[in-house]
Amino acid sequence: MTESEGDWESWTWQMQNRVDGVEGLASYISVSEDECKAMEELATHFRFRITPYYASLMDADDLHCPIRRQVVPRMVELADAAGLRDPLDEEEHSPVKNVIRVYPDRVAFCVNNECAIYCRYCLRKRMVGSEEWSMKKRELARGIQWIRQTPAIRDVLLTGGDPLTYSDARLEWILQELRSIPHVEIIRLGTRLPVTLPYRITPELCSMLQKYHPIWVNTHFNHPKELTAEAARAADLLTKAGIPVGNQSVLLKGINDDVETMKRLCEGLVRMRVRPYYVYQAQLLDGTEHFRVRIEDGIALFRALRGRTSGFAIPQYILDTPHGKVPLDHAFVKGRDGDDIVVETFEGLEWRERNPL
Ligand code: SF4
Repeated sequence: MTESEGDWESWTWQMQNRVDGVEGLASYISVSEDECKAMEELATHFRFRITPYYASLMDADDLHCPIRRQVVPRMVELADAAGLRDPLDEEEHSPVKNVIRVYPDRVAFCVNNECAIYCRYCLRKRMVGSEEWSMKKRELARGIQWIRQTPAIRDVLLTGGDPLTYSDARLEWILQELRSIPHVEIIRLGTRLPVTLPYRITPELCSMLQKYHPIWVNTHFNHPKELTAEAARAADLLTKAGIPVGNQSVLLKGINDDVETMKRLCEGLVRMRVRPYYVYQAQLLDGTEHFRVRIEDGIALFRALRGRTSGFAIPQYILDTPHGKVPLDHAFVKGRDGDDIVVETFEGLEWRERNPL
């Protein structure tokens, strides 16, 4: 691979030069025998691509590198007894192709099937990277038409795949169409590109997006190693365009399931003015057993953060289900005792608050 500095910072160059095989990967890391075999055996299960930028964040020799584990296939993916193909029944919840409605007032609209990288734990691994789920313009128009004809929908999340892998022009067409629908109040973009391809966040993109406010962005950082100067610049461009940026992580065993790593991640996000919003329990998804954390351990982790960092740096731990999101909270309210409500403080002390009936 030869590139100039200008190429490296060009998002289209990064997309065109993604690592997609052992040979390319070997220029970033010492590929293990297991990884080599997994890339071959899993090739038909789930696509493998990494942007040069994200590949450059991997540790060349550490098999446990948190970046490497998110993107490089392993044979263990074939040893999952419980995993499902579509654990949230998203296909059952789709009135038209790629429009997912679980709640009455909002939809997730999977506008494309393409991502910059393919995360090994991806909830939508059944569809991302697969031709069957790509969206032609007429299929996008059909989804938009369904939203137009459904006045209850006030909030549209554009997701995928990753909506920012579209050109500015294609994305603007979707935004223009949605903004012409009076009942659509909020448009959200779910994108991992600030993490995996931060050069995609250009001043031109931000100028275009801010014409369609209120626009919100939710991105997906999982580990403090991803909080680079490039990612901070991308977040800064978005927030300067008046776009609130939130973060949704997935709780991943051996990657971010300890208090210190999660604290560093959340505090780093807040420094970048990105609000830690949700951390999802990893789904019962095919090929991902090695990533799953016991829910009790996840609850204990977020309980331990309470009082150890700013309240707004603590995300909500969430279990997503086919019937919507369920907060997985530690119960700080212990109950009523006469005229008192008994609660637990962050230090684990009991406090009685007078609260007469
Ligand atoms: S970027 Fe998001 S949608 Fe794409 S593979 Fe990763 S988790 Fe899945």
